[in-house]
Amino acid sequence: MEAEETQADPELFDKIVNLSKRRGFVFQSADIYGGFRSTYDYGPLGVLLLRNVKDQWWRSMVQMRHDVVGLDASILSPPAVWEASGHLANFTDPLVDCKECRARHREDKLDDSDTCPSCGAKGAFTEARQFNLMFKTQAGPVEGSGAEVYLRPETAQGMFINFANVLNTSRKKPPFGIAQIGKSFRNEITPGNFVFRTREFEQMEMEFFVPPEDSPEWYRYWCEQRRNWYLDLGIPEDQLRLREHESDEMSHYADATSDVEFLFPWGWDELEGIANRTDFDLKSHAEASGARLEFHDPNSGERYVPHVIEPAAGATRTMMAFLMAAYHEEEVNGDTRTVLRLDHRLAPYQVAVLPLSKKPELIEPSQEVLNLVQPHWMCDYDQTQAIGRRYRRQDEVGTPFCVTIDFDTLDDQAVTVRERDSMEQERVPIAGLVAYLESKMSK
Ligand code: ATP
Repeated sequence: MEAEETQADPELFDKIVNLSKRRGFVFQSADIYGGFRSTYDYGPLGVLLLRNVKDQWWRSMVQMRHDVVGLDASILSPPAVWEASGHLANFTDPLVDCKECRARHREDKLDDSDTCPSCGAKGAFTEARQFNLMFKTQAGPVEGSGAEVYLRPETAQGMFINFANVLNTSRKKPPFGIAQIGKSFRNEITPGNFVFRTREFEQMEMEFFVPPEDSPEWYRYWCEQRRNWYLDLGIPEDQLRLREHESDEMSHYADATSDVEFLFPWGWDELEGIANRTDFDLKSHAEASGARLEFHDPNSGERYVPHVIEPAAGATRTMMAFLMAAYHEEEVNGDTRTVLRLDHRLAPYQVAVLPLSKKPELIEPSQEVLNLVQPHWMCDYDQTQAIGRRYRRQDEVGTPFCVTIDFDTLDDQAVTVRERDSMEQERVPIAGLVAYLESKMSK
């Protein structure tokens, strides 16, 4: 397969981490206190990029469909939910300690199950212990049993426990889906690779409820849809693949699972899992709660528990993949130009408004141009430094269009629009600027 032959670029990782910090995409959390390991804060540019990733997911999964509705369920939930879902018993990873250096590792992620990757010791691991990944805390001022609550380790259960609420209020019937974007928390044994694996992260998940006999077909449909979403937003085909799980890799409840994988600098790794979860979740919650979680068609009298196809993606992880896929360095007039070739729908800023100089006579028309464009797109405004350097700054954060106001603008009421990828410049009348940019960003 061609995709297998593409090579990961090991240097890309450091470049993305540096760029993220230097330009305000992602900061280490609690930086001024020495940093809090494995948690990150999204800076002025990161919050825009991450929001655009989530918006694009929501647009394709909810807005552009008639058969998916949204939900925003709580993060805190009582033990009963996690008892029924199987998370209290099964949401564990095998943990081993190295007796030599005391480092802790996740046994199933070791390249060599006998060698400690931290110190190289052989045969020094303890027996694997199952470690539950859920964060536990307490609700209310009284300590002790009965007050225990968990931070959700996935958003999915919120959709299952609200199945009847949604069914009764939305006038939907299978096949239909419930989608949710939100934070999840896992006490990961080995967080790492920047925002790839963190203890606090954001997920974009959808549970699609279907008649049981149709589930294989819908599973294939969602695998294809989800793969195309990444391609459409600019991940190159040779850096993306769908990998079907072997039967021993799947969760106990799943009938089929595929991962959407991206070629990260360390190799192929998961962006999203698409699983046929069968009727496991609805049945478990129905049994544990006593609620009727099934579909009843009043016309045909038909009654059944729907099966569920779940595309579950990580927003923060996906944001990093888009950054990596977009990162390019190229030679321009003997200089290296760093450019993020982000799709305009994902770029933090779509437009930068740049007066050629700080002279007062240029500031007023620049402000007017900004006022004109700002209601349509996220804009940056920058009036310091030479124009060439400002173009490079915008290239580096992926801004597709720079609009420059110069002294000719005062006479011809036109501006120069520079396109990020081609670096071509075009003179455009201010009166037609919004229409011009709209035609360039019509997708
Ligand atoms: P892994 O095998 O990498 O631990 P998983 O298969 O347990 O992940 P899922 O439970 O399927 O992951 O979660 C769906 C998606 O949520 C993943 O594909 C990933 O994008 C994201 N995700 C899961 N755990 C983390 C994490 N600790 N940090 C960031 N994103 C995560």
